[in-house]
Amino acid sequence: MTVSRDNSPSDFFRATSHAFGETIGSRRGRPELVALLCAQAFDGFTQNVAIQAEGEPALACHGECAACCRLRVTATAPEIFLLARFVSVNAAAFAERGVMLLKRIADADQAIGGLSEAQRMSAQYACPLIEGDLCIAYKVRPLACRGHAAFDKALCVAAARGEAVETPVSATHLFVRSIVQNALMAALRRAGLAWGLYEVNGALNCALSAPDALEQWISGQDPLARAQIADFDLVEAGALFDAVGA
Ligand code: SF4
Repeated sequence: MTVSRDNSPSDFFRATSHAFGETIGSRRGRPELVALLCAQAFDGFTQNVAIQAEGEPALACHGECAACCRLRVTATAPEIFLLARFVSVNAAAFAERGVMLLKRIADADQAIGGLSEAQRMSAQYACPLIEGDLCIAYKVRPLACRGHAAFDKALCVAAARGEAVETPVSATHLFVRSIVQNALMAALRRAGLAWGLYEVNGALNCALSAPDALEQWISGQDPLARAQIADFDLVEAGALFDAVGA
């Protein structure tokens, strides 16, 4: 789903949310729902960023940089379940190479679960999915990771270390990420599915710890509730979605 630069943010939001709603309506309860929603979100993000960012300076980000992966990452339930599937499928292969993913994720949850964005920045705790300065889940990384795009690597690294520097980041990436993520949340809400925003490490640990977490979520429960972002106001967000008509 792509939208031209002439469309308003509200049009972009409604059209994207409607497309997510169609996918949920046609695939609800089927095993491919999570992967399809995430593919739609990631493709929609990439394609719309390309349209909206046309003519802007080149980014400093590349796939082999994990400088910003000490920030708090938030994601929707489908993104969490996609990551959980990636970890479940690959955990044994990584363990053979000495990378104990499940333990890393559980340890990270214990160490940083419940921290605010500022506390997480101070903690300088690396995402457990980094190995050798690479994101091992790069292809299935959440929208929030995709939407944090910097124009200056040195400043980005300094900011991630907690230094008081201004890092020029792409407002276009932040904007498109916000529209796509909120459009997905609005569609999940209309479908009666848990539609909150979760801290990735904690929610991933929830999803990996309960074998039936995905089935619980599909049935309308919220098995990731413990990792909900406290400062994301569901009531306010719901009212905003209603006001925009999504
Ligand atoms: S999921 Fe990947 S890109 Fe996102 S914070 Fe973790 S290591 Fe970085």
